[in-house]
Amino acid sequence: MKIISKLPDVGTTIFTVMSAMAKEHSAINLSQGFPDYEIDPALKGLVNFHVQAGKNQYAPMIGVADLRTQIAKKIDLLYNASCDPNNEITITNGATEAIYSTVAALIHPSDEVIVFEPCYDSYRPAIEVHGGVVVPIRLHAPKYAIDWRLVEQRISAKTKMIIINTPHNPTGSVLSEADLMQLTRIVKGTEILILADEVYQHLTYDYIAHQSVLRFPELKKRSIVTMSFGKTFHATGWRIGYCIAPEEITKEMRKVHQFNTFSINTPLQYALADYLKDEQRYLSLNQFFQSKRDLFVKGLEQSRFDMIPSKGTYFVLARYDKISNEPDVSFARRMTIEFGVAVIPISVFYTDGTDERIIRFCFAKEDKTLNMAAKKLCQI
Ligand code: GLN
Repeated sequence: MKIISKLPDVGTTIFTVMSAMAKEHSAINLSQGFPDYEIDPALKGLVNFHVQAGKNQYAPMIGVADLRTQIAKKIDLLYNASCDPNNEITITNGATEAIYSTVAALIHPSDEVIVFEPCYDSYRPAIEVHGGVVVPIRLHAPKYAIDWRLVEQRISAKTKMIIINTPHNPTGSVLSEADLMQLTRIVKGTEILILADEVYQHLTYDYIAHQSVLRFPELKKRSIVTMSFGKTFHATGWRIGYCIAPEEITKEMRKVHQFNTFSINTPLQYALADYLKDEQRYLSLNQFFQSKRDLFVKGLEQSRFDMIPSKGTYFVLARYDKISNEPDVSFARRMTIEFGVAVIPISVFYTDGTDERIIRFCFAKEDKTLNMAAKKLCQI
């Protein structure tokens, strides 16, 4: 039988590849982004409570009402933006499903979608499997800032969507208010949609405020925003996130969502709804992660890595030119196998495999893990 692949160039995601390699070689895993510490016992208790209380059957297709209401309150508090919990908020199987269902619902064959590279690896396959055309725009180290004039030049009559990601994975850059004003200027008067991946919304550092598209009315009315409980509450294995979009867009997105996953894990939704009632649980996250970033970066001061400043996310990039001139994929492999620290090579996030010899570390780890890794890294 001959299978004609719809995604002939897609292999296994780098996060799976590197985590498996870390495991095989018992390396410290700073590759795939997930914490190595426990979630809050209070949150565990709430899950347990709702399982015992019998919240074990299908949740509503769009998500548990109480959770959607809590999300609307949180968005209002953080971004002074109102979202209708019934018609504009949908609970999804992580942000990845939100992105996939959104693209599936809105992108028609030959529609163009602008993305910024290095680009999170789920965007391109989601676009291409639906016949969309990816239009990549390069960002450059060390700032990875967007050149908005270039964006204007790349817009065509076929541009259906622009995907932004702030704070940005893998680079740790964040978009400023001025960036979003530029974006506003560019899309005003067009039919272009914005998909804003804001899963690291709480992880901005050095007193930089996260600029959600929800703060900007001209953007909000054309945006689909994806956010994540996995990142926010250290529970990436729960696979639970949400999607905020105007009613007309949400309607279309839900047409796909309902046949993609139908609905999301019920007791987790009830637990998160209760847990969200105390805003300190997410307002203190930036301090928590900033001290981890600072600890890790300080730990590498004596190393031969050149760190690229990270303003957001729980990732930090580093150049390794002083150590080796081999390609980043083979260096990442060697770091895992020979030096015992697994990392992510950045070239895999470029369409053309651009290799600037830069790797990504995840610092969402116990302090002792970060210290142990730093010690190993300083010996390279
Ligand atoms: N978002 C995580 C990262 O960047 C990976 C998620 C995944 O493995 N799908 O490391």
